[in-house]
Amino acid sequence: MTVLVTGGAGYIGSHMVLALLERDEDVVVVDNLVTGHEWAVPAGATFYKADIADPAALDRVFASHRIDAVMHFAGLIIVPESVRLPLDYYRENTCASGVLIQRALEAGVESFIFSSSAAVYGAPGLEPVKETAPFAPTSPYGTSKLMTEWMLRDVAAVNPGFRYAALRYFNVAGADPEMRAGQSSGPSTHLIKIAAEAATGKRDGIAIYGDDFDTPDGTCVRDYIHVTDLADAHYAALSYLRAGGASMAANCGYGVGYSVRQVVDAVKAVSGVDFRVTQAPRRAGDPAMIVAAPGFAREVLGWTPRLDDLPTIIRHALQWESLLSDRKAREQDAR
Ligand code: UDP
Repeated sequence: MTVLVTGGAGYIGSHMVLALLERDEDVVVVDNLVTGHEWAVPAGATFYKADIADPAALDRVFASHRIDAVMHFAGLIIVPESVRLPLDYYRENTCASGVLIQRALEAGVESFIFSSSAAVYGAPGLEPVKETAPFAPTSPYGTSKLMTEWMLRDVAAVNPGFRYAALRYFNVAGADPEMRAGQSSGPSTHLIKIAAEAATGKRDGIAIYGDDFDTPDGTCVRDYIHVTDLADAHYAALSYLRAGGASMAANCGYGVGYSVRQVVDAVKAVSGVDFRVTQAPRRAGDPAMIVAAPGFAREVLGWTPRLDDLPTIIRHALQWESLLSDRKAREQDAR
């Protein structure tokens, strides 16, 4: 059997492909390369440059492989951009997912794993967030993810052979420990990526957005999860569904929060670089705190994180950032 990974040329998708290949799965990648890079698709996977909103292209892929499971990472991910361009997010994240789900159903796919987000909860308050927390997305990005979860729920309700797992990511960061994959797509908006760029001299510093939140040091608190642990959680979800597990949604986080200031200090400590840090106003829509209540994924999926250590996440992010600089320098030399 074969696993189809959409968005396999992107950040999280490329780590997923590595995790699948390591477990001897046959992997097919579909990616439109709008934000991903073909070089990021790990060797060993069959790659199709195609859009998941194109039913004919999907049908060709499904007809050429015996695909029993889909892992769906393709989509747009920048929250402030989604506020500016809501229809782009509904088209690329929700409508395109509808096409993919429909073609997957037609092709007899039994297991569907979806990249959802803690953004479906909005601003949940200061307590760790359980899967049963109310949905209250505060951006079109979060709404576009929630709508796809609801499509999956409703489709699964009337198709007993089709089951899904929606994995709600907290703050994903880091890179493959062996440096075979990492975060390459720009523009960077995420804290650890930006701090790693500052530490490697790619930007002249970092701004902290807001220091007057209701948190211990006044800056926002997030739950940072290593991208390789996240890929492992997906593999656990795949095994769970293949073994007949019921459709479900699970948080993917460690249940430990770090403030923006703590993250910035940790990047300085791990890199040994004292880059410039400035204070800026709050970014629109940032909740004070989002930390997962992580028990469900561990209990139901049997997921065991291996890299749940902030300095390790940062070290891998920094190593990847340096590799990207080397790649760029080589490309410039070649020109
Ligand atoms: N952040 C910041 N400076 C930056 C980027 C992010 O202070 O250059 C803060 C941001 O306001 C939020 C936290 O870091 O409080 C995490 O932001 P990120 O965009 O990484 O993830 P989010 O939690 O928004 O999905």
